[in-house]
Amino acid sequence: MTTPPLQRTSATFLGMPAFPKAARAALADTQQRRNLAHATATIRAKRAAVVGEVEDWEGLRVAGAAAKDDALHHLAERLEQLEANLTARGATVHWARDAEEANRIVVDLVRDRGAEEVVKVKSMVTQEIELNEALEEAGVSAWETDLAELIVQLGHDRPSHILVPAIHRNRAEIREIFLREMAAVGRPAPADLTDEPARLAEAARLHLREKFLRAKVAISGANFAVADTGTLVVVESEGNGRMCLTLPETLISVVGIEKVVPTFDDLATFLQLLPRSSTGERMNPYTSMWTGVAEGDGPQDVHVVLLDNGRTAALADPDGREALRCIRCSACLNVCPVYERTGGHAYGSVYPGPIGAILNPLLRGTGSDVDASLPYASSLCGACFEACPVRIDIPSLLVRLRSRVVDQSSRRSPEALAMRAAAWTFADHRRFEAAQRAATTGGRLLGGRTVRTVPGLGAWAQARDVPTPPRETFRQWWARTHDDEETT
Ligand code: SF4
Repeated sequence: MTTPPLQRTSATFLGMPAFPKAARAALADTQQRRNLAHATATIRAKRAAVVGEVEDWEGLRVAGAAAKDDALHHLAERLEQLEANLTARGATVHWARDAEEANRIVVDLVRDRGAEEVVKVKSMVTQEIELNEALEEAGVSAWETDLAELIVQLGHDRPSHILVPAIHRNRAEIREIFLREMAAVGRPAPADLTDEPARLAEAARLHLREKFLRAKVAISGANFAVADTGTLVVVESEGNGRMCLTLPETLISVVGIEKVVPTFDDLATFLQLLPRSSTGERMNPYTSMWTGVAEGDGPQDVHVVLLDNGRTAALADPDGREALRCIRCSACLNVCPVYERTGGHAYGSVYPGPIGAILNPLLRGTGSDVDASLPYASSLCGACFEACPVRIDIPSLLVRLRSRVVDQSSRRSPEALAMRAAAWTFADHRRFEAAQRAATTGGRLLGGRTVRTVPGLGAWAQARDVPTPPRETFRQWWARTHDDEETT
């Protein structure tokens, strides 16, 4: 077999600026804002319609949250149960503490099978650990088979949405990417390709078909892992996932340990919550389930890599464990006014939007500028909590993470110094009145002009217009107009 050309996948998020700077650049991209506003408005309307059909949606949300909480409270036992059931049914279970360990396990498995390429089912967790990059380093081509992932990969781009990674691209841009890039890595796009969705989908289907038929190894994630049966579940819309899960000889699934759900009955709850919340459909078109190896049917060499990568630390964090309930439906992104305007790249991670703003600091800590800025990437309007099918109180978590970021920052930071100065001023009415007099003098000097920068409060003031101080305080006004009455 000739070696397929390596597909250099998306650039990683490493080295991205913190949210305020990245968001400013994203806001200037009017085409992207138009694409996002159109796409999120469409998904929001579809979701609202199908959620409205369910008689007791709130009851389902409560059941989903309770099932996830149960799994998380007994995580060690549930995982052992899952491992025992998977092993009993012919799968090999591997445990990975972090991204490096998981990548090493997968790369070794692929190499041992002599494979030079793999087909991939859309999977957030493999992006989290940058598996494609690790495979490419080992000389293995990793082909994304989900349409949106394919667009991102061929465009050497980064995903910007959990469900629709290429949401920031419109049809004309996708056509250009296909025409420009497909030929270098396989079947070229037809020369007369138009930007009609059906023609674009057909080009992708033909391009991918030869890869499906050739690949010996497939890599997937899992939406759910059912502990009491050892069943892994992938839900998807295009059928590409099912091709990967059934055609190759070897199947390697990388699964975050928080994906475990206790029973098959719980799965029924999630299979109602997930499609309605994510794509606005009553049921997702393809639900694939496999329990180890089925003799003579599908992959006979089945591996499951159970990945921690910060999850047990998040679980041990009383402020954050609720976030591990997330089923990655993306409903919180689609209703978030901040996400709609900035898009996903500004969050500097494969997990964008409101859930990214809490998951990334929980999984990676708040040591970097990017992660420390994320809890502030929200208006705290509460729309994300209303939309979340497993009732994660994202606004409250964000507030708690903000206080953690502030506590960690230096006591000599401009914000800490400003707060200390404010506390000193407010502690004594004479100081407060003197500050008010100084402010009104400043207000008179400004003459109605808006203050756009404040020395020492650069980042804070860049995002806000400081109100012009009034020319007269309330006390001064009272004294002037009620000089015959008590003024204090
Ligand atoms: S936080 Fe909730 S709404 Fe957002 S992706 Fe996760 S499950 Fe969906």
